[in-house]
Amino acid sequence: SGQIHQTDVAVIGAGPVGLFAVFECGMLKMQCHVIDALESTGGQCAALYPEKPIYDIPGYPAIDAADLVQKLEAQAAPFKPVYHLGEQVEKLTANGERWLLETNKGTRIDARAVIVAAGVGAFGPNRPPMEGLEQYEGKSVFYLVKRKEDFRGKRVVIAGGGDSAVDWALALHGVAASIQVVHRRPKFRAAPESAARLEQLSKSGGIDLVTPYQLHSLEGQDGQLTAVNVATLEGEVRRLEADVLLPFFGLAMNLGPIAQWGLNLDRNHIAVTPMDCATSTPGIFAVGDIATYPGKLKLILCGFSEAAMAAHAIHPLVHPGEVLHFEYSTTQGVPAA
Ligand code: FAD
Repeated sequence: SGQIHQTDVAVIGAGPVGLFAVFECGMLKMQCHVIDALESTGGQCAALYPEKPIYDIPGYPAIDAADLVQKLEAQAAPFKPVYHLGEQVEKLTANGERWLLETNKGTRIDARAVIVAAGVGAFGPNRPPMEGLEQYEGKSVFYLVKRKEDFRGKRVVIAGGGDSAVDWALALHGVAASIQVVHRRPKFRAAPESAARLEQLSKSGGIDLVTPYQLHSLEGQDGQLTAVNVATLEGEVRRLEADVLLPFFGLAMNLGPIAQWGLNLDRNHIAVTPMDCATSTPGIFAVGDIATYPGKLKLILCGFSEAAMAAHAIHPLVHPGEVLHFEYSTTQGVPAA
């Protein structure tokens, strides 16, 4: 059911290396679809250290990780990549000489070649182990807040004890009808100023701290929560009426389905031929942190070079019989964005 997207190259992962692969493919007249489990581009740079400066990107004495991502996206934009964000590629199957990718959201992409730029695996939220959780996800259980306004007038339960839980409790104060923060310890592991402000708001009655409790079970219907039950270690259960649950238990990385694709894995990395980043499977290439070969350095700049090599190796698959005259970007230019 549904449409199948046709493209030259499917890039799995929109981290720095996946983004640069789009540019390199574009320079060789190959169109890309890019899939990432994260809701935004940037991979580790965006998820783990957006505000940290990087010092070893050629030409930039220092650049914040988030800025680098933004520039890489701008550099790729003239080639009109199609992004599928918030989706994890689960299946990769051969379809004659082409490859069919399928995501957990049902998106299907048919490509002549695949560039796996999957880093340390798909990033996703740590999900609390609760029965029936899936039916509420995206409807009344959310792992990130896109717009505070979505929660106006709602009874919100936040779970977790770190910076995200505390920061969102503070940010939604005054927007949500009520806020209850569930944490299994009495102390919060957040920036001292934020933790102090949370204490203050709990005393004045603006935010309700429910500690030491853990998530126990959900009540509701058709994806709409009515209550979140929480329990102490001793098993005492308390019922919190709620419209929304926001669990903030951090990000997990999971190589997940990639391990099932029959690629030559070497301790969670994909072994490639260093000269072209080809995997053991024709038409599938791997670049960036996930790729390994003797002497591999896990650096963004090495990933960039690998992306260029993979794109050149893919060119004859997408444009068979066309002689590739090697050109510098200065000679060729890029199309207007
Ligand atoms: P990633 O950035 O890991 O991106 C991979 C993406 O693929 C992720 O977004 C993931 O969600 C997605 N993905 C994986 N599997 C799937 C799937 N099945 N379906 C959909 N999406 C999937 N490097 C430097 O060069 N210089 C530095 O100074 C530097 N500092 C760092 C500081 C920190 C704190 C950390 C953690 C890393 C640092 N690094 C640095 C390393 C650098 O961030 C990585 O080398 C780089 O991010 C690798 O890029 P990538 O595109 O290969 O993979």
